[in-house]
Amino acid sequence: MAQTTETRITEAQPTTPQPLSAQSAALQAGATHASPRLPQATSELVGPEDGPLLLIHGGAGDRGPNSTAARREQVATDLERALDAGYAVLDAGGAAEDAVCAAIHIMEDAPEFNAGRGAALTSDGNVQMDACLMTGDGEVGAVAGLTTARHPIDAARAVKHRTRHVLFAAPNDKELTDWGVAMEDPSYFVTEQRKASLADAQANGDAWEKHGTIGAVARDAGGNIAAATSTGGITNQMTGRVGDSPLPGCGNYANADTIAVSGTGIGEAFVRAVAGRQLSDRIEYAGQPPKDAAESTLDDIARHRGDGGIIVVPARGQGVIAFNSEMMNFGYRCAGSTRVNS
Ligand code: ASP
Repeated sequence: MAQTTETRITEAQPTTPQPLSAQSAALQAGATHASPRLPQATSELVGPEDGPLLLIHGGAGDRGPNSTAARREQVATDLERALDAGYAVLDAGGAAEDAVCAAIHIMEDAPEFNAGRGAALTSDGNVQMDACLMTGDGEVGAVAGLTTARHPIDAARAVKHRTRHVLFAAPNDKELTDWGVAMEDPSYFVTEQRKASLADAQANGDAWEKHGTIGAVARDAGGNIAAATSTGGITNQMTGRVGDSPLPGCGNYANADTIAVSGTGIGEAFVRAVAGRQLSDRIEYAGQPPKDAAESTLDDIARHRGDGGIIVVPARGQGVIAFNSEMMNFGYRCAGSTRVNS
């Protein structure tokens, strides 16, 4: 699909183009801040400066050997369906929080993505799902290590609205039932494709498919913003590992004074960089425009040995799509304009 991205040269532009899987491997192996191999960020502005706007992503990373045209077409179709569901809420005058949850629901049910059904598998072959929902007023709910919630974002939303806490580790089935969260047998989430990815990861080290985490950020007609992120983590992760996605201020963040942001990529780097809050602080305290702040934050993620992408909706201003990995699945919709990329 056509893509009109603007490429920016960072301080560490490679002299010889390299496949990012090799960059990733070098970074994971401990390349330093001065490494000439740091990936460079690509970003673009999308949508209007005010009024309803919805951005979604379906993961970022390397394309990997299993990225067929048919699968990319399926991802594009699912992204469209998620935009349909989320933007319908905004179009009807609904809240940004409802819009991001509607979009996430569609993608959690779609097995192409690494969230809900089709979540990445741990080294033991199980699913372990994380999610976070945050609104611009600073209210937030998050969950980590879910094994039965059909829609992990609903569990995060329940934490936000039905408890006085922010983050739950592995809430049990009774808590989920009390919160009205629909459940499935753990086998529902496990797909043949993810089993193959786990086998690849265990046989081939870094040569595996990393992308598929999902996220949505929205601004409603009233100017309220919200961010939602849902993931199965990283293929072959150790049991108990938690990434950036459920951590407010890392993989998911919203602040009415600045932006709503959802990230995807190497979670450890997003956590080390405190990526979401860093992006917000760059705008609020350093006066950077959101697009520059997004690129600078990705540069810092690279310095922390990671790559990936972020989608950003400011309380006022155009949206931003930015990534420093080989690819990112994304889409956006606003009045009179829509696009998906897979
Ligand atoms: N950031 C997620 C994690 O580290 C993975 C991803 O975005 O693909 O859990």
